[in-house]
Amino acid sequence: MRTVWHYWVETYQNGKAGCSSGSEGPSLDAALAKAFHDATYYLLECGYNVTVTLETHCAGCYDAGTIRGKRGKQVRCPECKGKPPEEKIGPFPAVLHESVAHAVVA
Ligand SMILES: [Zn+2]
Repeated sequence: MRTVWHYWVETYQNGKAGCSSGSEGPSLDAALAKAFHDATYYLLECGYNVTVTLETHCAGCYDAGTIRGKRGKQVRCPECKGKPPEEKIGPFPAVLHESVAHAVVA
């Protein structure tokens, strides 16, 4: 089954939710790399607390279980056979190594 990994980065400051961003990658590795890229921006530039969440979806139907077949009829998704993946990772906090944090403050 072909899958896509969707990620989102949520930001918090003083207990309040700030902005969030998300996108997707063709694999867990690619989505993780993008998620950390986004997370470090919010950590370094904005000083937010950041959490990262990843979730996998069927690349064929994006978890609908069906796709539009011939003549517009809904048919069972050939990728996931109607059973989309339900893998989710997180939310987990993204934090900077202390030496990086010191370099930013200095
Ligand atoms: Zn599917």
